[in-house]
Amino acid sequence: MKGVIKGSETIVCPLQESALRKKGLCDYVINVASGCLHGCTFCYVPSTPAIRTRQAQLNLKGIDNPQMDWGRYLLLRDGIPEQLDTDLERKKTWKTTESGKGVVLLCSGTDPYQNKQTAILTRKIVKILVEKGKKVRILTRSPLWKHDLDILVHPNVTVGMSLPHFDDALSRLIEPNAPLPSERFKALLSGFKAGCRLYIAAAPTPPSIQKKDFKRYLEKVSALEPEVIFWEPINARGTNGNRMQKAGIDFVDSIMSQASWADNFLRQWKMLDSAAQEVGCTDKIHIWPDKALKKFTDPQRIESWINRPTVEKWPSI
Ligand code: SF4
Repeated sequence: MKGVIKGSETIVCPLQESALRKKGLCDYVINVASGCLHGCTFCYVPSTPAIRTRQAQLNLKGIDNPQMDWGRYLLLRDGIPEQLDTDLERKKTWKTTESGKGVVLLCSGTDPYQNKQTAILTRKIVKILVEKGKKVRILTRSPLWKHDLDILVHPNVTVGMSLPHFDDALSRLIEPNAPLPSERFKALLSGFKAGCRLYIAAAPTPPSIQKKDFKRYLEKVSALEPEVIFWEPINARGTNGNRMQKAGIDFVDSIMSQASWADNFLRQWKMLDSAAQEVGCTDKIHIWPDKALKKFTDPQRIESWINRPTVEKWPSI
């Protein structure tokens, strides 16, 4: 596929129930687009059914290989605000689990603030949700949300940035089109100063990370007083291992087998725990373990994190 494909698409129901409650993230998700121009090499989204099962549909939009061409297409769902207004009016029951807390996440399959078009759309959607008294969680790698502080500084909204480390050079290699970690930190600082509720997704961390890196990292993000710090390491599953190899990322070879991936996961987890204890932020850490780890450690330890509520407090609706 040559160049970048931009277009639009419609979907029947933009507000979807989400399995991400198992990560303590939400009960619902709204994805503002198919595809993501940040094109992070480790992104697992192209291996999920949202992309995998829509091969023929995406081919019709000119996207030859929706998995390997990830990062080079964006189909905006610009009809969502009108649909959502009607859907919320009609919706009789609202699912609120202990782990998902009834929260709506924007987004799990694309970045809601990756460019001006998605930012405009995201703003409209957040306004509708907040006006209807819903809880909203933003997850992004882009600082563009800073321009929406007028609506994002709200008790029912929490803004999180994926910020796995502070190494700008490493970021250019593994997430070449996403804003630099240093820019993300500056955005978080603006949000903090404005009184925005914040959380951090320290995800996904590379295999090269050491305990001293975790410690420095936690000291720095703790200054932002995030309500929770999610964590997971890079997982070379599906096509993302191939995309990382194609991008010349040499460390991926060390985590391609399930055993080496599990070994790396558990090693990083131990270092993170120890660093968090020294920094004094253990209560904020929320682990995102993969069920496959049960074969490699105490299964109960993994199970205890699945569907665990976060420590964040949300106002009752
Ligand atoms: S910003 Fe998120 S959705 Fe977009 S490519 Fe990166 S990891 Fe995937």
